[in-house]
Amino acid sequence: MYSDDALMAEPSRQFCKNSSDYNVCNWFVTDEDSAYCMSCSLNHTIPNLLRPERRRWWKSLEHAKRRLIYSLLSLGLPLKGKKEDPLGMAFSFIEDKRSNPQVFEDHVNTGHFDGHITVNIAEADQVTLEKARAFSGELYRTLLGHLRHESGHYYFSKLINTDEKLAQFRELFGDESKDYDQALKDYYANKGKTAKDPAMVSHYAQSHPWEDWAEVWSHYLHMVDTLDTAAAFDQQLGAGHLDDIEETLQKWSQLTIMLNSLNRSMGLEDAYPFVLSDQAFTKLRFVHGLIYPS
Ligand SMILES: [Zn+2]
Ligand SMILES: [Zn+2]
Repeated sequence: MYSDDALMAEPSRQFCKNSSDYNVCNWFVTDEDSAYCMSCSLNHTIPNLLRPERRRWWKSLEHAKRRLIYSLLSLGLPLKGKKEDPLGMAFSFIEDKRSNPQVFEDHVNTGHFDGHITVNIAEADQVTLEKARAFSGELYRTLLGHLRHESGHYYFSKLINTDEKLAQFRELFGDESKDYDQALKDYYANKGKTAKDPAMVSHYAQSHPWEDWAEVWSHYLHMVDTLDTAAAFDQQLGAGHLDDIEETLQKWSQLTIMLNSLNRSMGLEDAYPFVLSDQAFTKLRFVHGLIYPS
């Protein structure tokens, strides 16, 4: 995505209330019955704004969320809020006692349930994020990455909605009906002792087929959004969403090498610290086929 200016239309339109009130949004209102833009209208819980740093964290969270929403809309994916659909999308940005002893919750996990995506707002704090990255051993950990991953859980049931698609899913990702809580317990108990399965895009993907799916989904969004940005800058390696998937995958392989090399030139960590296997490419093709059925 080049910039989230894409959803900013003619200047006569009304800015989102979160722009004028808190300077955390730059989109226009598209629903005349709402004071909020499409992205902000999906909010269920926002941070305590009496604390200035929480407002800064919220701004980072909203910025990442708009990027996610832009991608979902660009891909033509169904996107409804809870007002329209009880299983629609909603966002809660919450903290727990680890970052604020005065709040009720002991432990808030970033996660998804029936369209409701929760993010622990401490992830918007750079120090906390770096500690979590080191603790988890994840080379790539960002707010946008979290949101893309959780949106994958949301779209699982929306896109894999026939027996045929479920059978295709199971062939690639495994049997998602296996006990999820137990699988995660087992994963964390053995995490340090297991090598990454080359069929997976990340180590965490091997915890359960649903997590494998959500990880692949997030990589699909990393890919199409970054290629879209490159195309907006007239780069040869750029690609539009509807371009041929084989060409898209090829360009992504080349572009990520360039991206990482540029970062190294600046003394930064790799922007895309992943090497995708043939199995991972097959899974990305599967996601593409669900979004753009032939
Ligand atoms: Zn807004
Ligand atoms: Zn997940």
